[in-house]
This record gives sequence, structure tokens and C-alpha cells, in this order.
Amino acid sequence: MRSVAIVGGNLAGGRAVETLRQAGFDGRITLIGQEPWRPYERPPLSKEVLWNPANAPDNFFLQTEDWYNENRIDLRLDTRAEAIDLAAGGVRLSGGELVVADQVLLATGGHARKLNLAGADCANVHYLRTRDDAERMAVDLQAGARIVIVGMGVIGAEVAASAIKLGCDVTAVEPLAVPMERALGQRFGHWLGEEHRKRGVKTHFNRGVTGFKFVDGRVSAVEIDDGTLIECDAVIVGVGIVPATSLALDAGLAVNNGIIVDRQCRTSNPAVFAAGDVAEQDGFFGGRFRQETYQNAADQAQAAALAILGQEVDYCKPMWYWSDQFDLNIQFSGQIPVQAEVVLRGDMGSNAFVAFFLSGGTIEGLLAVNRASDMGIGKRLVERRAKAGAAQLGDPDVPLRELLKRAN
Ligand code: NAD
Repeated sequence: MRSVAIVGGNLAGGRAVETLRQAGFDGRITLIGQEPWRPYERPPLSKEVLWNPANAPDNFFLQTEDWYNENRIDLRLDTRAEAIDLAAGGVRLSGGELVVADQVLLATGGHARKLNLAGADCANVHYLRTRDDAERMAVDLQAGARIVIVGMGVIGAEVAASAIKLGCDVTAVEPLAVPMERALGQRFGHWLGEEHRKRGVKTHFNRGVTGFKFVDGRVSAVEIDDGTLIECDAVIVGVGIVPATSLALDAGLAVNNGIIVDRQCRTSNPAVFAAGDVAEQDGFFGGRFRQETYQNAADQAQAAALAILGQEVDYCKPMWYWSDQFDLNIQFSGQIPVQAEVVLRGDMGSNAFVAFFLSGGTIEGLLAVNRASDMGIGKRLVERRAKAGAAQLGDPDVPLRELLKRAN
């Protein structure tokens, strides 16, 4: 009987396990996760878990405990994999035990990147990756607490919104000119920054953090590069992730910015696969990328599981993510091409609009703000590399469905 070990017990690992069983795999499956929890949803960590840490939201876990028992999944939680040792027959755990496996899926994700400053590990300096991180952070997000956010990427922007909701006094420091620049570009990043300001976030953009001041072993102020000292009760750091590639490197697999995989999610060792934030794969618009999105972790892991079972897989999808901040639902699919032509549908001032990003008349990216209902077809326009004229795109009376039909 064949056996598969999955290293990484979160969304990608969890979805891979489900896919293996749904596709009829009857062999042994071991899921190794270093957190004490069975696979859970991370999107609530920056929102519901901060608002109400005592009650995990409904559907927080991907599956019930019974599901893993009924499906004969050997769940090894609170457990670290130390080495992939296929010559010895599987994956070596931290205690020395060998988990037998013919094939391995690495779904190890990433770690929050640490600030390279003295005091960046103090108890009131928080990073956000796990449920435990969120619960610790929630203790410091009390009404009236002075919170400094370092890095206004997705985590910074979502936690800033949650902290405002909880009544905190929030100041954000970001080295770039706008928040979520990587995801939204300058123009829409600027719009988002203004929305944060309007709702009470004080911002220091184009500014870096140069150091911390301490009182009783806790950070009491953050110093920024124009000399300003921002007094605080806690600091939230969201400055990106470092992909967890050490197992792959130790096993001699090809690694670049992530573990290099082909469109079957296969690494340079044909018995080892990788999926999720840690995997670097062909990009939909060329190049090679790691996608750090929920949807990619779920879909790529599903593709990897089918490839493990020998099915034909050719995974290469445009990015799609969403982010909820205040009353703003922000969704983006595709990419913002260099020198994009931007066409707006709706009015940015009303906070309900769609923006299309075109390259040579082809829709390569689509941003939908409080227009979630447009995103289903929007994603398909990007996937089909649909071409459309600015007049039709900008006209709310031309349904997106019509544009999709014309693109077929
Ligand atoms: P990010 O890459 O989105 O943003 C990092 C931000 O930190 C950038 O704005 C960058 O300019 C800034 N930065 C970099 N170095 C800095 C420094 N030294 N000091 C101050 N700022 C600095 O990463 P993130 O926000 O940390 O998110 C981490 C991960 O969590 C990502 O994989 C992200 O996709 C994921 N996540 C996704 C969602 C979502 O999809 N809705 C929500 C939360 C988190």
C-alpha cells in the first residue's frame, strides 16, 4: 500500500489531505503540523479572532476531529518534521521517529519576517501568522491602547482596521508611499491610505523605523527616520514572510525564492511535491512566483494531491485575493502590468467601483471594491485574457457577462 506524508498542517496541507481521500486514495496519509491545532482558517486571525479571542468563529477549522478519524488521517500535531529522508523511507520527526512515506508534499508556508532591530522580540511586539499569535496580540488591543503598526501590507492594513474597531489609538509606519503597494499599486494604494486616515489611523508613509525605546522590558516608543518618537503600548509588525524552505534545502531540492515546482507541483525530486506560500511556480503572465494567497494555497494543494495520485495536472492560475478592512471589501485578480491602462467603472469616491488594468487592450488585472458580485466574472475575464475597449469597460450598463461572451 502506498503512503503519503504531508508536512505542514494548515490550509494547503489540509486541502491536500481532503483531495487525496476524495479522489479515492486508500493508502496511508500522515499530516504533520507544528501548531497544536488541526488545520484552520487564517483569514479570521486579523479580524474575528482579534475582536473576540474567546470564541473561535464558526467554521474556524477546515474539518472536525471526527473527519480525520473517519478518513484514517494520521494527524501529528505539535510535531516538527526534521528531515525528508526518502532513502530511509520517509520523513524524520523531531523525536527521531520515521513516518513512512513513498511521496511527500511540502506545505510548510512561511514565517513572519522579523524586524532587524534591538527589542524586536519584546513581549509587546507582535507578529501575526498563527492562532496563538492572534490571541496574544488580542490581549494588547484594548480600547484606548496606543498601537503602532510597522508595515502597511495586508496584515498591517487589516490589523489597523481591527484595532480601530476595538477603540485603539492607531499609528502606522510604512517605508513606501502608500499601503498595500505590492497588491494595489500607487493610485489605489493612495486611495486606501486615505480611507484609513478618514477612519482615524495616523500615518507616517515613506518612513522607516530606526529603533525602539523601552520601559520595564517593553517597547514604550517607536522611533522613525525623521526623528519622530511615537509612544505606544504595543507594536504590530507585518513586514512580509520568509518562506519555510529549510527542509527542502536540507534535502537538496532546488530552491529559489521558494521551493521550485513544475506545473504538476513536483519539486526537483519526483517523489516530493510542494504547494502553497512556499512553492515557486510558473506565473500566469510569465516569470516564476510564489503566490501568497488563500486561494492559491487551496487550489495548488489540490492540484499537487491529484498529481501525487498520477492524474494529469497543469496548474497555472492568475492570483486572486480578498481583504476586508473596515466596511471595505477589496478583491483583486491578476496583475497590474507595467504601464497599465486603467479603466474605472464606478466612482472611487463612493467606495464601490471596479478598476480594470489593461496591457495592449488585454485585461490583466481587476480590482473590485465593495463589488464582490462582479468578481466571479471578473476573474474569468482575467483567466481568458479577455480584450475589451475602455468605453465598454467603463460603462456600468454593459454587463461584465457580456464582455466575457465577446471574449469567447
Ligand atoms: P506584505 O508583503 O503584504 O506587506 C509587507 C509590508 O511591509 C509592505 O508594505 C512593505 O513595504 C513593508 N515593509 C517591509 N519591510 C519593512 C520594514 N523594515 N519596516 C516597515 N515596513 C516594512 O506582508 P504582510 O502584510 O506581512 O503579510 C504577510 C502574509 O500574510 C502575506 O503572505 C500575505 O499575503 C498574508 N495575508 C494575506 C491576507 C489576505 O489575503 N487578505 C491577509 C493577511 C495576511
